[in-house]
Amino acid sequence: MFITPHTSVAIWISTRVGDPLLAFVFGVVSHFILDIIPHGDDNIADHKKEKKEKLIYLMRIAFVDVFLACLLLYFFISSGSPVDYWVLFGAVLGAWLPDFAWITIEMLKLHTLYWYVFYHGKLHNFFNWQYSPVYGVPFQIFFTLLMLRFSL
Ligand SMILES: [Zn+2]
Repeated sequence: MFITPHTSVAIWISTRVGDPLLAFVFGVVSHFILDIIPHGDDNIADHKKEKKEKLIYLMRIAFVDVFLACLLLYFFISSGSPVDYWVLFGAVLGAWLPDFAWITIEMLKLHTLYWYVFYHGKLHNFFNWQYSPVYGVPFQIFFTLLMLRFSL
């Protein structure tokens, strides 16, 4: 799942939890729960045939995704909702960490941690149901807006 919907859940967590460490733990757990839900972005770069071309394409998507997630955080903070910044920081860090850990392990080729990449990937295929980003992207946008609705 994209970082933006993960961030929307982190925002929601920050409105329900008062402790930064607990918010962090819930952020991590929420990440893995969301990854289990079939979310239609597994084949988003399949039209790119070369490995390098595919990687550049995915990096561009990740850049836009993180930008949108930051925009979402900015929107939430400036909405005037009472929020403890440390709790929000803990929840966001927890929600982002599983994907950043995966990317770091892949990029630095940390072979001893490949078990994590394996299980993270396994979660994505828990229901073994992939569908097109044509439906997956709108689903994730809808999900993000729904979580935001519950947070404001
Ligand atoms: Zn993930």
